[in-house]
Amino acid sequence: MQSASTYRAVQAVSPGKLELTEKPLVGPPAGHVRIRVEACGVCHSDVITVDGLLPMEWPRVPGHEAVGRIDVIGEGVKGWTVGQRVGVGFLGGSCGYCEYCRDGNLVNCINQAFTGVQHDGGYAEVMSAKASGLMAVPDELSSVDAAPLLCAGITTFSALRNSPARAGDLVAVFGVGGLGHLAVQYARHMGFEVVAIDRGADRAELSKKLGAHHYIDGSASDVAKVLEALGGAQVVLATASGGKAVSAVLGGLRRGGVVISLGATDQPIELSAFDLLFKELGVEGALTGTPAAGDATLKFSALSDVAAMVETMPLERAAEAYAKMMSGEVRFRMVLTMS
Ligand SMILES: [Zn+2]
Ligand SMILES: [Zn+2]
Repeated sequence: MQSASTYRAVQAVSPGKLELTEKPLVGPPAGHVRIRVEACGVCHSDVITVDGLLPMEWPRVPGHEAVGRIDVIGEGVKGWTVGQRVGVGFLGGSCGYCEYCRDGNLVNCINQAFTGVQHDGGYAEVMSAKASGLMAVPDELSSVDAAPLLCAGITTFSALRNSPARAGDLVAVFGVGGLGHLAVQYARHMGFEVVAIDRGADRAELSKKLGAHHYIDGSASDVAKVLEALGGAQVVLATASGGKAVSAVLGGLRRGGVVISLGATDQPIELSAFDLLFKELGVEGALTGTPAAGDATLKFSALSDVAAMVETMPLERAAEAYAKMMSGEVRFRMVLTMS
């Protein structure tokens, strides 16, 4: 039986192994808030924690799509109130004093820890989070609906919003999965002519339902040629992991077009230097977004009814939820709920 001085959490203890545990309830450190977590998304990047892909120490509680209510405010925190519903994403909160922070580039802060990697994340009933990384969750969104928007949502929303594409431009989303099914909706609501690209005919109907004007079946046609025939894409958002996906669409960009790569993979991207030069193409990466971009993601999603397709499981089944996500059987985001 759990007492009031402890809380339940699921932690990674060795490569591939998640287990339910009980942890002592402690106050938040200075500059942090303590949160009663209501929901936390299970993201593919949780593999970093579960398999130890970055320098870190076990045991560690994964989870960087956490939504909950502030129950204690730490020393020195301003601008947040007890009872307020907040979101915590992958970036654990900028430092405010490094060269990048001082230049307003919060995403690239060099003193920023990753939530659920260097400190405990949201696979838990309680977590602490640095106030500088918090996002404000609007009342219109349930905690379950808001959770996947804190990583998959902000990543795609922010990449599109910061891209050179303007209303009416041709924008392609490569991969209609966990990230892509949100990206297609955002792209449509931002006013682009939207192309969804995936493999197989079964994704065609879904893509149209999500708002795509066109669908390209990559297993049946040459993606670059079809994009070219549509006039060439100003932006291709590559949400499918793998450098080959990025290389495959390069020929489908219009002159001055950009591929934005969101896949977390070390697979190399092969490019033609000729294409880069003579068509002035760009290849970029995009890492989630600032807390304010997170606020905007949540607000925009509520305003335009953009939502992730979500499957839920209770916290104690986190290991099962994680395994199902890794197997690729989740359509499209898994969210843990805390009772
Ligand atoms: Zn994530
Ligand atoms: Zn900094």
